Amino acid sequence: MTGITRRSFLALAGTAGALSLMGGCAATSTQSARRKVVVVGGGYGGATAAKYLKLFDPGLDVTLIEKRKTYYSGPGSNEVLAGWHELAWLRRSQEGLQKNHGVHLIHGKVTEIDPERRSVELKDGSEIPYDRLVLSPGVDMRFDAIEGYNLKASKRIPHAWRPGKQTLQLHNQIKAMRNGGVVVITAPSGPYRCPPGPYERASLIAHYLKQHKPRSKVIILDDKTQFSKQALFFKGWEELYPGMVEWVSSEKEGKIDHVDVKKLTVATEFNHHSADVLNIIPPQKAGWLARKAELADASGWCPVELHSFESTLIPNIHVIGDSCIATPMPKSAFSANSQAKICAHAIVELFKGNPPGPPSLINHCYSVLAPDYAISITGVYEYSVTERQLVATSSGETPMDADRQKEAEFARSWRENITADTFE
Ligand SMILES: Cc1cc2nc3c(=O)[nH]c(=O)nc-3n(C[C@H](O)[C@H](O)[C@H](O)COP(=O)(O)OP(=O)(O)OC[C@H]3O[C@@H](n4cnc5c(N)ncnc54)[C@H](O)[C@@H]3O)c2cc1C
Repeated sequence: MTGITRRSFLALAGTAGALSLMGGCAATSTQSARRKVVVVGGGYGGATAAKYLKLFDPGLDVTLIEKRKTYYSGPGSNEVLAGWHELAWLRRSQEGLQKNHGVHLIHGKVTEIDPERRSVELKDGSEIPYDRLVLSPGVDMRFDAIEGYNLKASKRIPHAWRPGKQTLQLHNQIKAMRNGGVVVITAPSGPYRCPPGPYERASLIAHYLKQHKPRSKVIILDDKTQFSKQALFFKGWEELYPGMVEWVSSEKEGKIDHVDVKKLTVATEFNHHSADVLNIIPPQKAGWLARKAELADASGWCPVELHSFESTLIPNIHVIGDSCIATPMPKSAFSANSQAKICAHAIVELFKGNPPGPPSLINHCYSVLAPDYAISITGVYEYSVTERQLVATSSGETPMDADRQKEAEFARSWRENITADTFE
């Protein structure tokens, strides 16, 4: 595999647009061969894309590559943190996509992408060619963003923002905490994975503390001045956990400045907090592979053409899910699943020589505050030709007087539905 960079590749070929057209010509000349689509990342974005590519065109040769033997779901992971379920409850398998839809499943890490030869290389040295590549590699933490918090520190002070062992580790730390202790959560400024997630986490930790250590409290140190579903969260905390959850805006205390992982302290610009348990949720960026392949811009995220989610930087590579820029859509499993379907449909149309139509996408995010208490937010997004980006054409939140128990039932049912829609 050549170590060609995106810049040298584009210089070689002219422009990304020209290459896309070349891709089309190459495909036409081998019409009888089965088109190959390789999907990297078997989470909510990648698994949905692989499945829907086969549903939209069963004749496609679709390979899904996932580096982890076990994938744990983000949705629901705060409930594991609160001790409601075992970690195994979050396990999702991509095997169903192989059995039910004929997707080839490979467990391995993709280490290189060669856009010129259109192939990916795995850690074991094997190469897999593609006509089109879909990447959904999730997020990486920005370990350079908060002084004192890096990869090594995260082993002791888990962020638990990629569900798995760290989810359990944080649960165990809270379980071992004294009654009367303080759990400090830091919430990053955006864009980051699951905007309401830190506040759902604070709620479910408070739920645990209320039952087991009622003199304790949760403090959220926020790098922002407002957050998703804010008024609904405030109402929920007042009703369910009075005096137990404190939200500290950066307007009041300034930005998060540094962390001392040994002393379990966080310094903001104007104050200082000691914790018994510390949960740092750092700022984030696109997954390593997307950045290594030079698919990310200076923001750390991947710009895409929103009719197809094809990269605007490298042709024939599509980026979906948390890694891509699809503002104002939030980074969520629901968004990743929605984007995957648009992307899969666009790829099938592109193979037929048709330009993909304008996209319409949906996100609906539930936050669970207690077993029988949930709230939600919805957005419908369409492509604006004048703004050349997605715009929210409709949006809404749980009304203040709505039945929270019904919302909790909807949240459970949504989780079952998206699991089936993505992985089965
Ligand atoms: C606490 C928490 C709660 C959440 N709650 C919700 C919720 O209620 N609703 C909701 O919609 N969303 C929720 N989310 C967000 C959701 O989990 C993510 O937005 C979603 O998983 C994004 O999907 P993705 O496909 O982009 O990335 P991921 O699901 O992270 O999948 C990426 C996959 O790519 C694989 N990969 C990466 N690099 C490589 C490589 N080089 N080779 C092979 N494989 C690779 C990874 O192993 C991973 O399996 C929550 C997240 C958290 C942390």
